Amino acid sequence: MRGKVYLVGGGPGDPELLTLKAARILGRADIVLHDALVSREVLELVAADAELVDVGKRCGTKLLTQEEINALMVSYAKPHKVVVRLKGGDPLLFGRAGEELAALRLAGIEFEIVPGITAGFGAAAAAGFSLTDRRVASQVLFTTIQRDTDNRSIQWGGISSTTTLVLYMPGTDYARVMQQLRDAGWPDGMPCAIVSHATGRDQQIRSTILAKLADEAVLPAPSIMVVGRVVAEVAEEISRSYRIGPESAERMSPPLVI
Ligand code: SAH
Repeated sequence: MRGKVYLVGGGPGDPELLTLKAARILGRADIVLHDALVSREVLELVAADAELVDVGKRCGTKLLTQEEINALMVSYAKPHKVVVRLKGGDPLLFGRAGEELAALRLAGIEFEIVPGITAGFGAAAAAGFSLTDRRVASQVLFTTIQRDTDNRSIQWGGISSTTTLVLYMPGTDYARVMQQLRDAGWPDGMPCAIVSHATGRDQQIRSTILAKLADEAVLPAPSIMVVGRVVAEVAEEISRSYRIGPESAERMSPPLVI
């Protein structure tokens, strides 16, 4: 009998943000193929006798190709009962799940998808703003910045000043991100938040505006950018706690509202 493959979302970092289902399946897994993004605390929930296989990327260098990962999942699913393909965040966002699901379907292997909290949701929660807001944002676009020269650029049709942009994999070239957004007509004053290691122990949050994005110090990966009017709500709070540290920020009197 063939096993079953679970595509599981490991969430953004904080292990308490895992679903109960994900935690239960990790506890009864025979083998777990995980990405580099999955936090150590989440991996600690994996059954002690399970085999852990790191199939992630390190500094852009792949340990295994996507085809090798697909083949591994299929071959492990034969002798093993419970195979977990564990991904950071949600498995269905920027995780090449489409190709993995196609491989499983082709091989006739049963699978189940267990959603996770995506980095964009983790980042917004950490920074303390709403992704939609009936006053300033009516839609959210989960996207990534164009890095190569092929035609996979962001499709800007339908995007307006009431869109919140959640940019995965922003990279380290903030000037380039700034340029792409400006070229697309985003105004210089549009607020941007950068969240590194959202919900994890090394979390860092910055806020700026589009025109000054290139001046920001690059935060460590993984980091995500959120661009939109919703960020304005917390911009002052974020810059204040960054400048003087969270503890003294609490003791400060609230800023003057002009
Ligand atoms: N499936 C994942 C995304 C994988 S793409 C999800 O749903 O979150 C990898 C990108 O996700 C990273 O380059 C970064 O932009 C973002 N990311 C993942 N975890 C993150 C975290 N804890 N904090 C900030 N960004 C994160």
